[in-house]
Amino acid sequence: MGLVVQKYGGSSVADAEGIKRVAKRIVEAKKNGHQVVVVVSAMGDTTDELIDLAEKVSPMPAGREFDMLLTAGERISMALLAMAIKNLGHEAQSFTGSQAGVITDSVHNKARIIDVTPGRIRTALDEGNIAIVAGFQGVSQDKKDITTLGRGGSDTTAVALAAALDAEVCEIYTDVDGVFTADPRVVKKARKIDWISSEDMLELAASGSKVLLHRCVEYARRYDIPIHVRSSFSGLPGTWVSNENPKSQGDQQVEHAIISGVAHDVSEAKITVVGVPDKPGEAAVIFRAIADAEVNIDMIVQNVSAASTGLTDISFTLPKSEGRKAIDALEKSKGAIGFDSLRYDDQIGKISLVGAGMKTNPGVTASFFQALSDAGVNIELISTSEIRISVVTRQDDVPEAVRAVHSAFGLDSDSDEAVVYGGTGR
Ligand code: ASP
Ligand code: MG
Repeated sequence: MGLVVQKYGGSSVADAEGIKRVAKRIVEAKKNGHQVVVVVSAMGDTTDELIDLAEKVSPMPAGREFDMLLTAGERISMALLAMAIKNLGHEAQSFTGSQAGVITDSVHNKARIIDVTPGRIRTALDEGNIAIVAGFQGVSQDKKDITTLGRGGSDTTAVALAAALDAEVCEIYTDVDGVFTADPRVVKKARKIDWISSEDMLELAASGSKVLLHRCVEYARRYDIPIHVRSSFSGLPGTWVSNENPKSQGDQQVEHAIISGVAHDVSEAKITVVGVPDKPGEAAVIFRAIADAEVNIDMIVQNVSAASTGLTDISFTLPKSEGRKAIDALEKSKGAIGFDSLRYDDQIGKISLVGAGMKTNPGVTASFFQALSDAGVNIELISTSEIRISVVTRQDDVPEAVRAVHSAFGLDSDSDEAVVYGGTGR
């Protein structure tokens, strides 16, 4: 019996009852003979509440203090969880990210893990303890300041520890039974996936699926750590995410599903730069300005220029949260770019169809567009990768469009409706 890393999200430990329920589960794993390392998130909406509080005392809190504040959320849950486990008669010790050896760069608020030295965790395990680690945090290598990994970062902590401790699996416990073919909050007939390749999971995460963070899947793929996503509220087996299908043996490859799922994202906005002179170098100037403002962009579309004016429009999508920065940066470069005006639209949504099988199955794109057309949904932008097709539509059309595409590709389940056990969706 090897070492397992289990991660419990905020909705699984939202209150004292939740903490006691999770403690029982952890003790079960220990009784089954595993060495158990637990990574825990802040209780319920604690992180959001701490952010609200910070914003009340200062409009722009310093990164160092902001991180110090946010890491308090995970400290509360880790200590309570250790107490609850001890109360069940088992040994447990809690550790901050720093104590657990999670070393990061010094970019506050979105630090990257650069090394994991889990010496104290190993010792705690060897002494028979269950080790509880605060998720989403670390300590910077140079300044030794406390850092956070960005929202939802506890998943990344869990996978990083699993890699450093050579765990046999990283179990991510959440408020749904696994990874579904669509968000079960939108598609009641979404189907639970038993196994999905890391490749498809990465693409789903990049397309707005929230069940696993992109960075966490990326890390797991690089270190070849299998992830088992499951609910802490039910005993059901969840979804395995790994590089290889565990059912494939030797030359006996088990066939992939053609389509893994439909993801959607309503967190982006669209900027249109209207009346850009159609000459070499324009796109370079526009996107240099955007990059210098440290704004990440997603899709880009350039229209053909009108022959009479020699002007064209360039549209791109970006996170809504970066809209202001991008508009300011473009306004500042107006002289250098020479456009007419800027249009900002935050009422858009993105729908993506993901599956490695589309590489070798012609007609997937046509069926996707047909489903949207049948649902009366107008397409504004299109982008594709080898294993994904995405469209931008009106935000109001997103739920209907997701359901239509899900049905059209035969993904609807005919058994029980997907269950969402907890969480406020905040
Ligand atoms: N508590 C942090 C957040 O809410 C980290 C996490 O939940 O993974 O973003
Ligand atoms: Mg959380």
